[in-house]
Amino acid sequence: MKSDVKLFENGRRLDGRKPDELRKIKIEVGVLHRAEGSCYLEWGNNKILAAVYGPREAIPRHTQNPLRAIVNARYNMAAFSVDERKRPGPDRRSREISKVISEALENVILVEKFPRATIDVNIEVLDAEAGTRCAGLTAAAVALVDAGIPMRDIPVACAAGKIEDQVVLDLGKEEDNYGSADLPVAISPRTNEILLLQMDGHLTVEEFDKALDLAIKGCHIVSEFQKKAILEKYRHIPKEVG
Ligand code: UDP
Repeated sequence: MKSDVKLFENGRRLDGRKPDELRKIKIEVGVLHRAEGSCYLEWGNNKILAAVYGPREAIPRHTQNPLRAIVNARYNMAAFSVDERKRPGPDRRSREISKVISEALENVILVEKFPRATIDVNIEVLDAEAGTRCAGLTAAAVALVDAGIPMRDIPVACAAGKIEDQVVLDLGKEEDNYGSADLPVAISPRTNEILLLQMDGHLTVEEFDKALDLAIKGCHIVSEFQKKAILEKYRHIPKEVG
């Protein structure tokens, strides 16, 4: 993916960020009143809504697992979320992202507490600017907390990548288009266990180690934003009357 587009100038990236700097993140908890739990997240120009329904009985019954809940994450990119209108509905990419996010969440949710149930996690990308699977998983994790779903930890995701021979954190749109590698990572921040790891492009083993390290550092920063947003909603003690 080499190109003539200049992604670095005087040690700064196109949007003025340093190599190890994240885009701006804003998280709001409990934005939908019909969902059990929800989250609205802005990450750079990504705008994402996550809504959790359940645990509820899995239907049709043949989908039920008698020993545990199934986690059914559905990632959807709105037709208007990208430059070139996306054809509505699921495609190969959205199915793949839904699958990897479902599997990542399944590993932290205490699924054995809810036999025969399903936990549905809807991730709607309203505005996309690269890194939506990480932003979607991060929003879904907050919505799961809001829904009161018991989890071992609050999962979180962040990508690192390579542009012009430098390893950088959290690729933006042009960096994703013209850079040479993208490495989305999701972890359980308490243990640093890896829940999702994908790679697009090429890196040397040294660069891979560096990018993985950087992505995990990014995850820990994003994790603080998640916790702050959750506390913001739940620390309010009702005011005394009179
Ligand atoms: N994208 C797009 N049209 C599509 C799919 C993706 O314009 O049908 C853009 C979108 O901005 C997305 C970016 O390409 O965020 C990178 O997509 P990728 O598949 O790498 O996933 P992401 O980085 O969003 O997790």
